[in-house]
Amino acid sequence: MIRLSRACLSAEEIAAATRVIQDGYLGMGQEVMQFEKELQEYISPEREVVCVNTGTSALQLAVQACGIGQGDEVIVPSLTYVASFQAISATGAKPIACDIDLETGCLDVEDAKTYINSKTKAIMPVHYASGYGNLEAVYNLARTHGLRVIEDAAHSFGGHYKGKPVGAEGDIICFSFDGIKNITCGEGGAIVTSDRNVARKLQDLRLLGVEKDTEKRFSGQRSWDFEVKEQGWRYHMSNINAALGRAQLKKVKEFAKIRQSLSKLYREELKGTPIKFLKHDETATVPHIFSVLIPEGQRDSLQEVLFKEGIETGIHYKPNHLLEKFQNEKCPKAEQFWKQTLSLPLHCNLSEEDVVKITQVIINFFGERKLTISAA
Ligand SMILES: *Cc1c(COP(=O)(O)O)cnc(C)c1O
Repeated sequence: MIRLSRACLSAEEIAAATRVIQDGYLGMGQEVMQFEKELQEYISPEREVVCVNTGTSALQLAVQACGIGQGDEVIVPSLTYVASFQAISATGAKPIACDIDLETGCLDVEDAKTYINSKTKAIMPVHYASGYGNLEAVYNLARTHGLRVIEDAAHSFGGHYKGKPVGAEGDIICFSFDGIKNITCGEGGAIVTSDRNVARKLQDLRLLGVEKDTEKRFSGQRSWDFEVKEQGWRYHMSNINAALGRAQLKKVKEFAKIRQSLSKLYREELKGTPIKFLKHDETATVPHIFSVLIPEGQRDSLQEVLFKEGIETGIHYKPNHLLEKFQNEKCPKAEQFWKQTLSLPLHCNLSEEDVVKITQVIINFFGERKLTISAA
């Protein structure tokens, strides 16, 4: 079976995990501190970096750290993993689904505009399939209405925006390092911002709200006499996960090259087919998934043919406004996208031969369809 996605691990990650196990300090300590420092060096020395246990908790804590909760609304594109919606609703705030731009799969700013009211406190653009969409317009809209921008950048670690690593620019950027993302910690996440108040708050919130516990743990101590002023969560990152992340971060450029060149090969090989590609700047992004649009009515049969050939594919995503918990607004373009989208295998253990094999199956699929149509 050619897998849709998977982690790319080797001797360095095994050595890193072994180092922590032999050291015997598994919780949040020196490894997490080093990982935060190395992420900061990689992204921008001017930014604050706070690591947590998942990308979902990164989003939740980011919303909470902005003082957003019960009675507030956050606008988020319907086409995203349910994690973005659950992270918002976990704070008590209401996620308001907005529609997407069919060319990029990212938030439609004009549609987002229509949902802004006195309860709106933030916009959460999602870097769908690692694309940024029209982030500039998102920030302009946010500035006009005094809203925070919390970017769900779970797909885009390792990419560049305006010539700088993703995370170097923008209000609050949240990454995921789960098992299949561009780099992995096993499970993990990070929040990047220039807002020192938000960063200080995040450091406490991830440790059950225990004030200044981060400093203590980074110096190998514990807090015994402490203060707690608000609801916190046990969302800190462990040393084991951080050690894996540190080993992966060293390979980020190598991983980027592989993902970019495999995507380029897909595009070249599939040029003559009716498949539509997303409009992303492929030199600046590091594709986490390779999501394409299949002509309406043919996606499911193509997926079945690929599966029979031992090729796993995915559908990113069922729009969240169709889920019982989150149904609110209408998002026709997100629904249209959902009907047509198919994600082809993409990960760092995939070979060029695999991509050629996959594209051959697709080319044959459309070739046979053409024949049956012309025969009829
Ligand atoms: C993976 C993902 C998340 C959540 O990250 P986890 O680390 O799995 O919690 C959030 N949003 C999107 C778009 C994702 O793909």
